[in-house]
Amino acid sequence: DSADFDSETQSICPFCGVGCQVSLKVKDGRVKYVEGLNGPANEGRLCVKGRFGFDYIHHPHRLTRPLIRREDAPPKGLNVDPGNVSTHFREATWDEALDFAAHGMTRLAQAHGGKTVAGFGSAKCTNEEAYLFQKLIREGFGHNNVDHCTRLCHASSVSALIENVGSGAVTATFNEIENADVAIVIGANPVENHPVAATYFKQFTKRGGKLIVMDPRGVGLRRFASHMLQFRPGADVSMLNAIMATIVEENLYDQQYIEAFTENWEAEKAHLADFSPEKMAPICGIEAEVLRDVARTFAGARSAMIFWGMGVSQHVHGTDNSRCLISLALMTGQIGRPGTGLHPLRGQNNVQGASDAGLIPMFLPDYQSVSDDNVRKAFTDVWGSGDFSNEKGLTVTEIVDDIHAGNTRAMYIQGENPAMSDPDVDHAREAFARLEHLVVQDIFLTETANFADVILPASALYEKSGTVSNTNRQVQMVRPAVAPPGDARQDWAVTVDLARRIGLNWTYTHPREIFAEMALNMKSLDNITWERLEVETVTYPSLSPTDPGQAVVFGDGFPRSRGRARFTPASIIAPNEAPDADYPMILTTGRQLEHWHTGSMTRRSAVLDAVEPEANASLHPATLRDLGVEPGAMLRLTTRRGSIEIMARADRAVSPDMVFVPFAYVEAAANILTNPAVDPYGKIPEFKFAAVKVEPA
Ligand code: SF4
Repeated sequence: DSADFDSETQSICPFCGVGCQVSLKVKDGRVKYVEGLNGPANEGRLCVKGRFGFDYIHHPHRLTRPLIRREDAPPKGLNVDPGNVSTHFREATWDEALDFAAHGMTRLAQAHGGKTVAGFGSAKCTNEEAYLFQKLIREGFGHNNVDHCTRLCHASSVSALIENVGSGAVTATFNEIENADVAIVIGANPVENHPVAATYFKQFTKRGGKLIVMDPRGVGLRRFASHMLQFRPGADVSMLNAIMATIVEENLYDQQYIEAFTENWEAEKAHLADFSPEKMAPICGIEAEVLRDVARTFAGARSAMIFWGMGVSQHVHGTDNSRCLISLALMTGQIGRPGTGLHPLRGQNNVQGASDAGLIPMFLPDYQSVSDDNVRKAFTDVWGSGDFSNEKGLTVTEIVDDIHAGNTRAMYIQGENPAMSDPDVDHAREAFARLEHLVVQDIFLTETANFADVILPASALYEKSGTVSNTNRQVQMVRPAVAPPGDARQDWAVTVDLARRIGLNWTYTHPREIFAEMALNMKSLDNITWERLEVETVTYPSLSPTDPGQAVVFGDGFPRSRGRARFTPASIIAPNEAPDADYPMILTTGRQLEHWHTGSMTRRSAVLDAVEPEANASLHPATLRDLGVEPGAMLRLTTRRGSIEIMARADRAVSPDMVFVPFAYVEAAANILTNPAVDPYGKIPEFKFAAVKVEPA
């Protein structure tokens, strides 16, 4: 009933990478409720987060004034009450806070060099904001120590995709499953983490599609699966190589496709000879005949897709896991046609766009190498600035180590919460406490903002203008439904004012000007204009000003030398930390349906918090019985990094030697426990495997 609201605004859900279009109904300056719109990724659907996760924007904890740390504040630590920040901070004007923020960074850069100042941007901000953020660090401080949460989610997938197919984005939208007859979902739990995408997967099975689910945990899609492979944690490569070895042994591969579009096949084929299903079965915990059946089902498909999530990427062998998935698609020719392709399901709503916009230490926008002199010149010509470093910068976790080493002394952190999301988070918190100057820009006083010297109040997505790019490569417009509270401002505008104060000649007055500048050096944005996005979603690549974009790419070759994709053989690498007598079980971490990442938004959304209010760890009922612990009682979990106390929950889907802990809860922060060991290529930490001791608390 239109009497229920004063206005309605079309925007995009701020949570996951599905990118559902929403209609925000506003009354008396507040969002009252949210409905799904007929966007290309959601066709009117929303999950519980999109439907009910909006009232955080009106929460009393919202930051409304710039804050500067008081001179008499207690020592830095995780010790600020977000409802009463005056014990540690005093309110300031924007001019004072921006001068203070900029001066702190320039003073340290002048005294110790530009590399003193590092940046974490945000996959929750718009494409334009991500672009400006990386530009500020590169142009303002002359180096590439700028990163964002892709490092913690799909960095290894992107590294394997760029290496082997020449592009880090998905080769087909998830909606293409409508044209498939077989699909693999591995290391992903879309029912909880990409719920609207999961509805397409379920419909696919209802019309006869075969869904092969592979996960050490029995995820929600298992009820729809033709094959459920609950393999040993960390055994991805042995299982996938065994499936590919069967395809080779039984001559099920697509020789014509391999000859036309790939390279290094003979090396892959020879490598796979060592990985028979019979040999791999005891390693991965899946019977040889099941592995053979999966190989025949996938290779025999008319059209097949592969979807994966952080169960694949967050390992020290994350890049190898993705290499196997790419090889599987290539050897069977299941790529480049409708209903085929590779699709790493993106986490944050704009992690694809922030990565495309160059918020990565190795790459400028569109994954153009910082080491290429011509590439840097193309950007500095547009920027009207001098050159910057040709060295790859430091990643999120490397910057933390660099703080401990005394090199990085200042940081600008926008909309990220590494004091909750980094592995071995006590180590990260100690680093943030050591910083001489920390500028945090956010909507709440996050755990990271506890350590700030100056806090700049920013906007929630429903308060800003810009564009975002979802997991499907679909670029969509976000629009402000309400004004930011108090003096809070849009992130791009804050970054512009900060840049001017560090001496950059920036004159942007609207995100459309930033978008136009991005398009000058981003081929992915060819034929995509701000004006088009005001009226339609466009999938990149778009081949003409009227082409809605290509749902499937690489039908006629790959953006690599001679147009050929590459097979890169993968060997078995053990998890970094094996269970032993002291830490006998396996810890894995992830998300839950109701909560988003570090919980700063969803735990301040009334409905979501009411449904899932308390930190919980899931274990098999038999494990709880052996421990003498009832569901609902408290457990102590301890790893070599630290210890937390958390409520036990019984879940038959978790194997008896595992414990699953969501990372949304500050009072039992999963990342106190996690292992910071990283994959050597994607430099992503091994969040999915640590040795843990479990006891009654
Ligand atoms: Fe939002 Fe993702 Fe849910 Fe869609 S599926 S409503 S984008 S959280």
